[in-house]
Amino acid sequence: MAEKIAGLIVTGEMNCDSCGKTMRHPERYAYVYDDESGKESRFCEKCSREKGYLKKRKNERGEEIETFL
Ligand SMILES: [Zn+2]
Repeated sequence: MAEKIAGLIVTGEMNCDSCGKTMRHPERYAYVYDDESGKESRFCEKCSREKGYLKKRKNERGEEIETFL
């Protein structure tokens, strides 16, 4: 498996490839690119969380933040 994941900000509008929800600026989404199949997917925050692409972490000040892998 060779997936590349990037956390991006929606520009304009786009649909989540998992639940079909319309995402609008300035929501965050996960852009997932599969090297082997060349397939691109975009997932809303909720689906990203369910799929494990969005993880809770603590930043250097001890605040809880969510970041994409
Ligand atoms: Zn979704």
